Amino acid sequence: MFNLDIINVEAHMDRPHALPDSVATVWGRESGFVQLCFQSRGCRFSDMGSCIMCDYGCGSELTAEQVSNFCRESELFNSREISEILIGTYGSVLDEYEISSECFRIILQRLRESPIQMVGFETHCDTVTEEKLREIKEYLPDKKIYIELGFESLSDKVREKYLNKKLKIANLKQAMMHINQMGFMTILNVLLGSPFLTPSEQIADVVSSVQWAFQQGAAHVVLFPVNVKPYTALYRFMNEGLYRPISHWRVIAALHALSQVLEEEEMACLGLSWYGERTDIYSEEFPRMVPPRCCPDCREELFSFYQQYLQAESGRRRNQLIDNMRTKAMKCHCREEEWSEFAGYTERRMYF
Ligand code: SF4
Ligand SMILES: [Zn+2]
Repeated sequence: MFNLDIINVEAHMDRPHALPDSVATVWGRESGFVQLCFQSRGCRFSDMGSCIMCDYGCGSELTAEQVSNFCRESELFNSREISEILIGTYGSVLDEYEISSECFRIILQRLRESPIQMVGFETHCDTVTEEKLREIKEYLPDKKIYIELGFESLSDKVREKYLNKKLKIANLKQAMMHINQMGFMTILNVLLGSPFLTPSEQIADVVSSVQWAFQQGAAHVVLFPVNVKPYTALYRFMNEGLYRPISHWRVIAALHALSQVLEEEEMACLGLSWYGERTDIYSEEFPRMVPPRCCPDCREELFSFYQQYLQAESGRRRNQLIDNMRTKAMKCHCREEEWSEFAGYTERRMYF
């Protein structure tokens, strides 16, 4: 019997350490959204071997002076073009193992002075405390706040045994209750493409997880297609032929399955991330991340679809776009290959 904790910790061992002067990384700037990721020692769950698909890197603990200098000098906080900022670290921004309370308050103070109206914090549900939430509320009483939590799957088997994620549903529910009671929004991230599942089971897993998330009061759910990251157990499995990166058409199939069961209002709140728009966290001399695959004949259409989907203002429009993408005349062969892999998925159920 193999132990995923050990395999994943071993896989992390050779990952490069973040450069000391790289205090924070900025992702995106399109459509008024920016993600700001502060360097940290790394996710405490990752250090235990949790989450065989994840590597956000490892670095050093920042000093209050470093954070203070960054916040003072970064023009980002003064921008009137940015309407939303997501604050993260290499794991959980509310975890004092990664960001000390002193550093966190410096960030909050800078956000308080900023014109940016919507602020998100990305963190593990076990790090959500009433104290941290109250602190955010005190510093940012007039902002729209959301807390974004990794959830991945409703299935205990998928989450705990296949992905090796250390997360209890009871803890997630409690964190969501505290977040919502504080008047903040909860965003849950769901993974598409778990290892050890058939394509049909992956779709069924996503459908039950997303439905559950909305039923529990998530304001938004974000679908994350698996990107196979170097220095993870999943990357090792891929190299041994035990895992095949998912197709972009599986993303379309998952969105279609979701469009059949969700209300239009829920579809309007179903986001998509890491569909292939992200760049590697490590420089070019290191192994590359593997995003979902497709053939050259459909790539442009798919990326145009993703843009339109994300910009669509209503669930109805999103459903139309999905339908159109599924049935559009195209000379691409990879779509047909993918469809034949999980024909009949609507009749399939997951037995756990
Ligand atoms: S998915 Fe979240 S909890 Fe898991 S290792 Fe990555 S950052 Fe940590
Ligand atoms: Zn194709």
